Amino acid sequence: MVFKCQDNSFLKEFTSTVIACNKINAEEVIEDKNQSYGVILEDTILFPEGGGQPCDYGFLNDIPVRKVLRREDQAIHYVSNPIEIGTTVKQTIDWERRFDHMQQHSGQHLLSAVLEQHFNAPTVSWWLGEESSYVELDTHSLSSDVIKQAENMVNELIREGRKVSVTIYPKNTPENILNEVRSVKGLPEDHKGDIRVINIDGIDSNMCCGTHVNNLSQLQMLKLLHTEKSKRKDKVLLHFLCGNRVLKRLETCIDREKQLTVLLNNHPAQHCDLVEKLQKNVKLLNKNLQSALKELALSDAQKLKNSQPLPKYFCLHRKDAEIDFMNTFIRELGPTDVFLFLSVGDEKKDGNIMLYGKEETIAELGTKVCDLLEGKGAGKGNTFRAKVSKMAKRKDVEKLIIEYFNNH
Ligand SMILES: [Zn+2]
Repeated sequence: MVFKCQDNSFLKEFTSTVIACNKINAEEVIEDKNQSYGVILEDTILFPEGGGQPCDYGFLNDIPVRKVLRREDQAIHYVSNPIEIGTTVKQTIDWERRFDHMQQHSGQHLLSAVLEQHFNAPTVSWWLGEESSYVELDTHSLSSDVIKQAENMVNELIREGRKVSVTIYPKNTPENILNEVRSVKGLPEDHKGDIRVINIDGIDSNMCCGTHVNNLSQLQMLKLLHTEKSKRKDKVLLHFLCGNRVLKRLETCIDREKQLTVLLNNHPAQHCDLVEKLQKNVKLLNKNLQSALKELALSDAQKLKNSQPLPKYFCLHRKDAEIDFMNTFIRELGPTDVFLFLSVGDEKKDGNIMLYGKEETIAELGTKVCDLLEGKGAGKGNTFRAKVSKMAKRKDVEKLIIEYFNNH
C-alpha cells in the first residue's frame, strides 16, 4: 500500500472515508488522553511515522491528530473521540511541520549519498531531531576539511536543482535488482506490498517510505554543524540543519549577537577577545580578594588569641572566602582550647566548614553539624571538615554549639 501522502507529498487537504475506528487499550493511551481511539481511513495524507521520519500532525474534520502510526499496510490516526465508520472526513495537515520533515529527510538522503560516494563514510542510521538532525556514519573520524568539502558538494547539488522522483517496484522484484538500491534502514518486518525507491537524479537511489521534496532546490541549503562520538564503536554522528532550519538558526544567532553587542558594548568581531579579557580580570580580582581575606584571617586569629578571658567556643563565617581562609586562621591561631566553628561560602547556597576542638567534642558534634547543614564530610582527631549544601542553617549550628557548651 502506498499512502496518498507518499503518492503526492505536497497535498495539504484531502477527503477520505472512515473504514475502522477502535478503542485503544488503556496502557497505550496512558501518556495522552487525546489518543483514546484509532481511526483508519481509506487513504491518508497524514504520514505515519517511519523510515526515521516522525509522524504528521493535522486534523480529521475539526478533531486534532498528534499521532499517526503504521500497522502493516494501514495508518492509524489517534484521536480523542470515536468517529463512525462510513463518515467522510476532511483531512488537513500541519504543513510547516511536514515540509520541515521533508527538507530534513531529503537532505539526509543527499548528504548520505555524498558522504558514501566521495568520502567513504556510509550512513548506518539517522535521527530527525526537534532542533538538529544527524547521520550516524561508519567511520572512526571525519576531519573538518572533509566536513567543509562535503558541505560544499551538497550545496552545489542543491543549487543545480536536481530532480527527486519515486519509483515503485512490485513486491516480487528479484533480490539482485533491489540490491542495487541503497537503504539506511531496510524494509520493516511487517512491510506489505510494493517497494518504494527515492531517486535523486544522477546521485542516489534509496528504498524509503518517507515523504520527500521533488526537486533539490526545495532544500534551500544544508549546513553541517559538528560531529559527536556515537555510542557504537567506530561510528561518528554528524549533525546537520537543512532548509528553513538554517535560516531559523541564523536568526537566533544574530539576535544573540545583537544582545551581546549591547552588553559588551563593542563590535561582534571583538566579542571573544573582550570576554577573554573579562574572564582574566575576574580571576585577578578573585586572587586579590583571597589575599586580602588571608590578611583578615591572620588578624581575626590574632584578635582571638589576645582576647581575655578566652571563650569556650568561637564561630566565624566569611562569605567570600575559600577553604584557604580557614586553614590560615587555624595555622595562625596554633593549638588552642577554644572550640572553633569556621565556615566559608554564600549563606543562601553551599560552602565549606571546619570544626576544631577536643577529640570527644568533635566526635559528638561533627556529624550532627554536618547533618544540619546537609553536608558530606569526615572527622579526624581534633578536626572535622565538610562540604555543605545548606549554609542557610548556620544559625542552627551556632544554637547547637551554645547548648552543648551550656551543658559541659
Ligand atoms: Zn529515507
